[in-house]
Amino acid sequence: MAWDQQSPINLRPSFTSKAPAGYLHLAWGSAIDGFLHHGDHGVEVIFPPTPSKYLELEGKRFLLRQFHLHHPAEHLIDGTLHDAELHVVHQNLDDATFAVVGIPLTVDPNAKESREAAGWVKSFTAARESKTVAIPLKPASWLPVNHDRLYRYEGSLTTEPFTETVSWIVFPEPKAISPALFAAIFGEHPQKARGIQARNRRFIIDLELTISISR
Ligand SMILES: [Zn+2]
Repeated sequence: MAWDQQSPINLRPSFTSKAPAGYLHLAWGSAIDGFLHHGDHGVEVIFPPTPSKYLELEGKRFLLRQFHLHHPAEHLIDGTLHDAELHVVHQNLDDATFAVVGIPLTVDPNAKESREAAGWVKSFTAARESKTVAIPLKPASWLPVNHDRLYRYEGSLTTEPFTETVSWIVFPEPKAISPALFAAIFGEHPQKARGIQARNRRFIIDLELTISISR
């Protein structure tokens, strides 16, 4: 099979549009417990499947499954490669397709970090020494400050088997993280990050929207 919808790509939008109300609904809740370990994607956090933690994209529901990070980032944002990228992975249980939220991260010594992020430093450091660490998370803090704009396109997993079953939702605004958190997550070495793939005939939409979030 010839693949022509691979990820990541250089996100240079084809056009700008306003999303209808209810286009994207995040039901991540105010708090969730994840399990942090070193897996196929480097460090990853697995969530036990919970029907109440999901996102809805254009009315289709995807359950929150896991998140992981890449260093450097995978997607280019209008030609810019950021320091890292957070991927929050959701899956539809009927057809096994994915919706992945991509959030570029940039290291900033002046980053104002939440108390939660300070806890992350401990958890990620601990995960280096033992296999699996429980990590309490406040999902709302994953989003960049301004999340009223996002890029949408159809693509693939960026790790094997590279299946073209991913609806990508990528925020163009990076989220700032402190050097301490960055070091705790990634240690000394870059993690697996796939190179840029051809856009081919796909459209990338720059969407203005109000995300509905239930906490
Ligand atoms: Zn990823």
